Amino acid sequence: MTTNAIAHYINGQPAAGDSGRTQDVFNPATGQVSGRVALASRGDVDTAVAAAKAAFPAWADTPPIRRARVLFKFLELLNAHKDELARAITKEHGKVFTDAQGEVARGIDIVEFACGVPQLLKGDYTEQVSSGIDNWTMRQPLGVVAGITPFNFPAMVPMWMFPLAIATGNTFILKPSPLDPSASLLIADLLKQAGLPDGVFNVVQGDKESVEALMVHPDVQALSFVGSTPIANLIYETGARHGKRVQALGGAKNHMVVMPDADLDKAVDALIGAAYGSAGERCMAISVAVLVGDVADTLVPRLAERARALKVKNGMELDAEMGPIVTAQAHQRITGYIDKGVAEGAELVVDGRDFDAATTGEGCAEGFWMGGTLFDHVTPEMTIYKEEIFGPVLACVRVPDVATAIQLINDHEFGNGVSCFTESGSVAREFGRRIQVGMVGINVPIPVPMAWHGFGGWKRSLFGDTHAYGEEGVRFYTKQKSIMQRWSDSINAGAEFAMPTHK
Ligand code: NAD
Repeated sequence: MTTNAIAHYINGQPAAGDSGRTQDVFNPATGQVSGRVALASRGDVDTAVAAAKAAFPAWADTPPIRRARVLFKFLELLNAHKDELARAITKEHGKVFTDAQGEVARGIDIVEFACGVPQLLKGDYTEQVSSGIDNWTMRQPLGVVAGITPFNFPAMVPMWMFPLAIATGNTFILKPSPLDPSASLLIADLLKQAGLPDGVFNVVQGDKESVEALMVHPDVQALSFVGSTPIANLIYETGARHGKRVQALGGAKNHMVVMPDADLDKAVDALIGAAYGSAGERCMAISVAVLVGDVADTLVPRLAERARALKVKNGMELDAEMGPIVTAQAHQRITGYIDKGVAEGAELVVDGRDFDAATTGEGCAEGFWMGGTLFDHVTPEMTIYKEEIFGPVLACVRVPDVATAIQLINDHEFGNGVSCFTESGSVAREFGRRIQVGMVGINVPIPVPMAWHGFGGWKRSLFGDTHAYGEEGVRFYTKQKSIMQRWSDSINAGAEFAMPTHK
């Protein structure tokens, strides 16, 4: 079998790099190697940063409306190629094709938002702040900025970053996950076809070595990171120490509270989709159901029935509800968590380790398969409650009332997303106000904010001051300048030695 070589993309063209290091890329549904991705050396990173630095002055000088026109063209091309992109995602990530299509669509939302960049960059202006003096503010790009992204959204998460970064006049280096790197090259090619000048968008494939080079590179002005909490923390601290702006989004443990008055049919649908969709490999997946009062007695048997009936198969089959786990190592990690849950005394209601791969599709026997797992009677001191499993495992915790539910969630180290299912307006309102979590859904299981609202968690789910995309994203990728202007016919004669006041 020939192995597809997956390269870097530097200065408008594919580049093999000089490290000689590569990593196998798998199709998780078949367990077979589908490609081999280059792993950049520090030298490769230097080459990409130099290309981005050289492209910066002309791109920053390009009027925002002309930059927006390139993005409009890119948008057209993305829409024309969205299924191709979704297929590439399913092939390397394993998520079902319809979900991959959804991922691309949510990325397209951000490109649409970035097309409005002339409006987004409008500054403030005050005429006559003092006699003959005007004052205004404007936002200017930072320079070369880098985005380091996780495996679980190989198209959408980069699109949280680069559309706004380049729309605002920066040049960009993307360092995708080496587990599913192909989407990044399709995106680079579409940007080139859209007329983006060479060097404005570059891709450096790689692992730890390339990230370490980007974190300390003197010509990189800002780092956007999305991935696990330990790496987010490392990038935030190292980047800040090297004088960079950093937004680093980390891991999660998202809870969904079900109140006794909730519409239970909707709550079951919501929990099943949010816990097992994309095999739980979403930073906004629900991994804990907080069942209030006696709700668990009705809900757990219904969840168990649905978890057992999940259609787990090759994501390219259109009726698939859940695909395989991304790698054999991730499969092993998740299995280890299930073992630990049992050892620590949680009740294993549905065991995904028992899964029979025979039903997953032709050629899939060697894939990284498991079924959905459901635990009941999980308590806060258990490892499966405290740690992010990042797999199709739902833990049910029973609590007596909403106040205990809120306290439980507020005590958790993560604070990415949360949800509350209730028919009570006052419970919903209090929940939204008191919960220490960045993104809240009321009767919405996965409250991923729209392109113009910005995405970000609290606590150890985000390191930095701004959320990704939306107006927060515009602020992150630009710096404010204030200009005060006076012309000679209004200048008073003589030096002034006291602070000027508003004459
Ligand atoms: P990861 O942290 O392993 O990898 C993320 C990126 O960091 C990749 O590009 C990877 O190559 C790089 N990296 C990995 N180890 C590194 C190291 N030691 N030094 C420097 N760089 C390193 O995360 P992942 O497994 O790809 O993605 C899953 C994680 O991402 C989960 O924790 C999930 O919650 C999180 N995530 C968070 C959000 C969010 O918005 N908060 C969104 C998506 C995913």
